[in-house]
Amino acid sequence: MDKIISHIDQNKARYQKELFEILRIPSVSANPDHKADIRRAAEWTKAKLASIGCTARLCETGGHPIVYGEWLNAPGKPTVLFYGHYDVQPPDPLDQWVTEPFEPTVRGENVFARGSADDKGQYLANILGVEAFFQASGAPPVNVKFLIEGEEEVASDKLDKFICDNVQLLKCDQIIVSDSAQFERGYPAICYGLRGICYMEVFLRGPKADLHSGEFGGAVKNPANTLGYIISQLHDQDTWKVKIPGFYDDVVELTAGERAEFARLPFNEQKYKDHLGVPEMPGEKGFTILERVWARPTCDVNGIKSGYQGVGSKTIIPAEASAKISMRLVPNQNPAKIQAAFEKYIRSLCPPSVQLRFECYGKAKPVMVPTDSPALSIARAALEKGFGAKPVLMRGGGSIPVVETFQEQLGVAALLVGYGLPDDNLHSPNEKFSLEDFHRGIKTAAYLVAELGK
Ligand SMILES: [Zn+2]
Repeated sequence: MDKIISHIDQNKARYQKELFEILRIPSVSANPDHKADIRRAAEWTKAKLASIGCTARLCETGGHPIVYGEWLNAPGKPTVLFYGHYDVQPPDPLDQWVTEPFEPTVRGENVFARGSADDKGQYLANILGVEAFFQASGAPPVNVKFLIEGEEEVASDKLDKFICDNVQLLKCDQIIVSDSAQFERGYPAICYGLRGICYMEVFLRGPKADLHSGEFGGAVKNPANTLGYIISQLHDQDTWKVKIPGFYDDVVELTAGERAEFARLPFNEQKYKDHLGVPEMPGEKGFTILERVWARPTCDVNGIKSGYQGVGSKTIIPAEASAKISMRLVPNQNPAKIQAAFEKYIRSLCPPSVQLRFECYGKAKPVMVPTDSPALSIARAALEKGFGAKPVLMRGGGSIPVVETFQEQLGVAALLVGYGLPDDNLHSPNEKFSLEDFHRGIKTAAYLVAELGK
């Protein structure tokens, strides 16, 4: 192992160069203008996998291609599947970036670029961890498979079908997902639970066209006003509970043990507030902040559109109003059931004078993995060696839809081992990734592979 680790240390500069290469490709999956960039990022990843010794190919799905690579020449040894995603969130709002989102820039120990932590730096760390075995000792002590997709940021629609159709191809003994974060600097973490999601858009249609608000104001129902009313009815203003009937029916409550574990973590509320730029953090009554973001469901407006958005004033009754609303779900909420409950509730709030229409942009089930498996002990040991600190057990507020599918289709629980930090500005301007953590992640991947091969 010493040989592997010193090889990793010697190659630090090259690793960074390779990371910057993939960060320069604006592989924004949500925007069709970036279709060619998406393909470039997929090709880059395929070439990288081929260069380390894997056979690699692009799998066409009708959406953005999936990169699949494998090396299966360790007979009798376990097979480890690494999952990651090469697509990124849109960089908007662009004017809030200190430096260009797709021109990786180093400030301090961090590289700033869209996709640096989510997820290019993380999946590349795993590839490089495996590469070290090929280069320093001839071959890894396990069989490896890589599944790097291009639609994680747009709900991984096609991936589910791909996994269902390719169960034999993807068969493995262990899955490593690196798309989460450490608890904090100095506290590497294994994530054992993720929230699911149900993402909706609500469209309200009033008059045929925008109307003069002097001539017609008072005569017709204003869809923007109605939308405001509907949104105001999503939460109880006192307990901050979601008011959708049945919303909490299937929620698995936190155990006393979990609550105690969370409470023991070195969570600094003031630092958290400062990072977010908010003076206080009201939320669902009866739960701490960590409990609220990790283990409680939420309902949030993600975007609103209606009426005149230009400079100055324009006196109209808008013809339309719409809001994108997503719900983060926890075990054992069912996204389809929640979607139905959401639509039913919104319908009950909407007057007949306004036409209502829904669009669903994605659903993912929440997930929890067992915390007492041998694989988890291996991950603990690998993180401790790679990061030089004892890892903690935590949950994540985000969604990685594929984790549930892996569990269901391949019968394997994923290990969620993330190398990022909670203040990496994922999905926000100025996303960053610590280059030190990138390096520690590469070492962790190597330790994981070594331990799993024993
Ligand atoms: Zn991600």
